[in-house]
Amino acid sequence: MGERRVQVTSRLGLHARAAANLVRVASQFKSCLTLERLDGSAEADAKSILSILTLAASRGTDLRIIATGEDEQEALDAVVGLFSRDFDEFRKDDGRQISRAISELRCKGLGVSDGVVLGRVLRFQEGTREVYRAEIAEADLERERRRFRAAVRLSRRQLEAIKDRAEKELGRGHAYIFDAHLLFLQDAKLTRDVEDYIVKERSNAEWAAKVVGDRLLSIYTQINDEYLRERGSDIEDVIQRLLANLTGEGPKYPKLLEDAVIVSTDLLPSTIAELNLNHVKAIATDAGGWTSHMAIIARGLGLTAVVGLRDFYHRTRTGDRIIVDARGGEVILHPASETVSEYQFTTGSAGSIAASAGAVEHGPVKTLDGVEISLRANVELPTEFQAVHDFGACGVGLFRSEFLLSRPGLMSSEQRQYEAYKSLAEAAGDYGAVVRLFDVGGEVGSELTDRERNPALGLRAVRFNLRNKEIMRTQVRAILRAAAVGKLSLVIPMVADVADVRMSKSVIEEEIERLKTENVEFSAVRIGVMIEVPSAVLTAERIAREVDFFELGTNDLVQYTLAVDRGNDKVSEWFRTLHPAVLYGIDRTLQAAKNANIAVTVCGEMASTPAYAVLLAGMGATDLSMIPAMIPRVRAVLSQIKANEAREVAMRCLVAGTGDEVEELVRNEFKARWPQLFPPNALPK
Ligand code: PEP
Ligand code: MG
Repeated sequence: MGERRVQVTSRLGLHARAAANLVRVASQFKSCLTLERLDGSAEADAKSILSILTLAASRGTDLRIIATGEDEQEALDAVVGLFSRDFDEFRKDDGRQISRAISELRCKGLGVSDGVVLGRVLRFQEGTREVYRAEIAEADLERERRRFRAAVRLSRRQLEAIKDRAEKELGRGHAYIFDAHLLFLQDAKLTRDVEDYIVKERSNAEWAAKVVGDRLLSIYTQINDEYLRERGSDIEDVIQRLLANLTGEGPKYPKLLEDAVIVSTDLLPSTIAELNLNHVKAIATDAGGWTSHMAIIARGLGLTAVVGLRDFYHRTRTGDRIIVDARGGEVILHPASETVSEYQFTTGSAGSIAASAGAVEHGPVKTLDGVEISLRANVELPTEFQAVHDFGACGVGLFRSEFLLSRPGLMSSEQRQYEAYKSLAEAAGDYGAVVRLFDVGGEVGSELTDRERNPALGLRAVRFNLRNKEIMRTQVRAILRAAAVGKLSLVIPMVADVADVRMSKSVIEEEIERLKTENVEFSAVRIGVMIEVPSAVLTAERIAREVDFFELGTNDLVQYTLAVDRGNDKVSEWFRTLHPAVLYGIDRTLQAAKNANIAVTVCGEMASTPAYAVLLAGMGATDLSMIPAMIPRVRAVLSQIKANEAREVAMRCLVAGTGDEVEELVRNEFKARWPQLFPPNALPK
């Protein structure tokens, strides 16, 4: 046996990359190599990366290296040599990479709300939602271990692919971390412990991986050194990947730091619903566009958000300092102190949005020439209910009921849906609320549907409901029952034609009959449809004869009319709300409703934007539904215009040739007619 003493002199301590180099060197020898802290508080196997990391050896830590075996002297020489070279981290060719990793990094995206904040990155991967314990029969334990090994193999393949891509696109300096992830995966401290747990506890592989992963993570949270403690996110990443590969399920919700900036490749609306928003300062995602649901919710909650950052997630680590500038559509990772001092940060988080509303007007707004326009609220989460009153909305023009799907089991429970619709009706008051039947598929609730090649054109919305009639029936019953105690209507999403309307209405009628026979208290409701696909626009006159009202979903109308995926940042410049084809579709729908004498609420994001709201008023819309926080601004603008003048501008837009031409026209006309209302930067482009 031989031993030596060493001190960790490297600036970042014995962190993942250094530990990975140590494992590589130690594994070349047959001897057992142990590292011990001189204060006796911990020891580690030098061939196990997870074991080394639990030493929490920051700069200045004294260690003893003990080698036992036939090549112990050579092993000691090699390891001590590595310590003296600071783990080969700062070799000439690598120094550049390290400094790149911690120097300021600016990334352009699309700001989809207001605010500029400084916070700390919390990386969030849509991983595993819940892991349950299951007892495995003796005879099946071997199968369970094989399942775990298969998940390890799959995770390894995924990580190798990510590493290759990172190396090519971002350089070696950003790819090294995946070497460490790969070492975690093959570390006996993880794999052997999980397999032992499966056998000893007769446990399913998911639970065993979670227990072992939590144990490793808890060691990390006790580490004193901030830099090393933050490296726990690497282990968490690997465990999440394993769990996702074992279960194939949805996200696991993280514990939030006080000033968390959620950084993710993409975020499901249901995930935002589950987060403790009092602690979230901002959101930054690789995917997304102005009308992706995540962006809509962020705006609704008053949460600073930048989306469409493409390859940003992989450049971050949990705990990194970050500026999110939604006004400028930019994020800055590792901001230098001079950069921080250049910014004026806004305060307040989602939790304080209602408080900022102050004294607001209620009821419809009147234009200068006396046209009355109702301003309603689009809501999605129960936390937004209060905002309906706070921002003076005429009730709820659109309740996106999909949030109910974010909690397992809730969807299937008629009673719990009933409670939710009842409190919605209470929040909406005398004006009432419009509940949309589940708009599942596309980007929402995708965990409920099978993977499809083209989800936006697949089993989405009304199609999903007609295929899953029990889900639809349960929701319809809950709405009808809640309508007995509050004013509710129902809207069917994404109908393509009269056939969709008739099939949906017959399900609703059957449920009405059933409630009657069962003697359950309920009330019949007005039935409307979302007009948001071109075929519905083209047959709007016929659809209008079958329903009580229309809701114009301009977000999807733009997506489907122009064939531009609303959540795909690569095509966001083709997503043109003011495209003449879109304006034509809106105008045609408004006319069809007028001829049939039914109401139309415009409820896409278009209605939330003051300049667009004026155009809508010009085309004859008298009912707009929007993010509650935008109501006072839209109200102020509409109260200062003449609908007649707006109509003139709208008519000229309708005959323009391109989106650019319409935007130009809006800029010029609005600047000339209403200069005090529309400073140049408040207009498109
Ligand atoms: C729309 O499509 O405009 C709409 C209001 O619905 P969603 O954004 O939920 O698809
Ligand atoms: Mg829609």
